[in-house]
Amino acid sequence: MVDVTISEAADRLRRGEVVAIPTETVYGLAADATDASAVAKIFAAKGRPDFNPLICHVADPAQLDALVMLDDRARRLVAAFWPGALTLVLPRRPDCPVAPAVSAGLPSLALRMPAHPLARELLARVDRPVAAPSANRSGHVSPTTAQHVRDSLGTGIAVLDGGPCSVGLESTVVGLTGETATLLRPGGIAAEDIEAVLGETLVQPTDQTLQSPGMLLKHYAPRLPVRLNAAAAQGKEGLLSFGKPLPGFATVFPLSERGDLAEAAARLYAGLHALDHVAGLDGIAVMPIPQQGLGLAINDRLVRAARGR
Ligand code: AMP
Ligand code: MG
Repeated sequence: MVDVTISEAADRLRRGEVVAIPTETVYGLAADATDASAVAKIFAAKGRPDFNPLICHVADPAQLDALVMLDDRARRLVAAFWPGALTLVLPRRPDCPVAPAVSAGLPSLALRMPAHPLARELLARVDRPVAAPSANRSGHVSPTTAQHVRDSLGTGIAVLDGGPCSVGLESTVVGLTGETATLLRPGGIAAEDIEAVLGETLVQPTDQTLQSPGMLLKHYAPRLPVRLNAAAAQGKEGLLSFGKPLPGFATVFPLSERGDLAEAAARLYAGLHALDHVAGLDGIAVMPIPQQGLGLAINDRLVRAARGR
């Protein structure tokens, strides 16, 4: 197990090595976004297909002007939600120094300023954009603790341990490359809150193949089969409960007993990881989650988890 300090993590990034870092959404597998060979190490370590672009993380909104073309919508969203769980996809500047592989060859770049204090200090020390997808094998459940990172990527991986992630779900991804703002991925900030700042409805892209390649993949899948909207116990399943747990389950992981969506989001991946490791279970049953606010993102991940690998 290789726990690194913040200065070791910064040194690794400047040397073109990868390091797993805490953010408030999930742990990221980070590398210098301007170094093509460092970025290649992320894809290799995750087994991630090269057509799936990465999110680039910045220490300060002032860094954006050198990377992408900003419009008024982008400036308003940055002012309202950064630092935080909102990623903006914007047109790359012709002289953008970020390696083309980060964008998977697209003319756009996804950007976020994380809120986690360790991530912010690290980004400030490195002083260059840092690419970081979730720190797990491609397709598996995202990590919300340093231990989840080691379980997925092996004990050889260098990890900066910042404790459990407070949001626990990936960022909301908003596309701003065209006339209409698009919701490329529901996530840690509710679409309704973003729409309130934009003063317009987020459009769901019809052709996700081109818009956001990552959303097509089977994703977030645990080892055990996942059954959604469970109303009764069945077989030897463990239960992810929301509100008062259903009777008849010997193993229960409560997402939120008081029915709070933010608490459920923060505990979702921990619950999938935990039940996946309980001996003797043959599946994971999930109680219904309301399809509103953060429930959109929770249900999006659960549907993908249920699709399996
Ligand atoms: P991850 O890094 O695993 O959290 O996934 C990043 C998400 O952002 C994926 O769904 C990507 O498809 C999406 N994404 C990243 N860059 C772009 C881009 N340039 N255009 C559209 N979607 C992007
Ligand atoms: Mg991921």
